[in-house]
Amino acid sequence: MSKKRFGRGSRKCKVCGTHRAVIRRYNLYICRRCFREKAEKIGFKKYE
Ligand SMILES: [Zn+2]
Repeated sequence: MSKKRFGRGSRKCKVCGTHRAVIRRYNLYICRRCFREKAEKIGFKKYE
């Protein structure tokens, strides 16, 4: 078996570190809250 360290708990917000509602879309791995802030900075205007 190779290393499979991924799974539950491996994803958390890169910005605030929360585990709640973390979006791993776009390879961002940030929670919805931070996503909203970051979205504006990186040019995402069409979330939800
Ligand atoms: Zn966050």
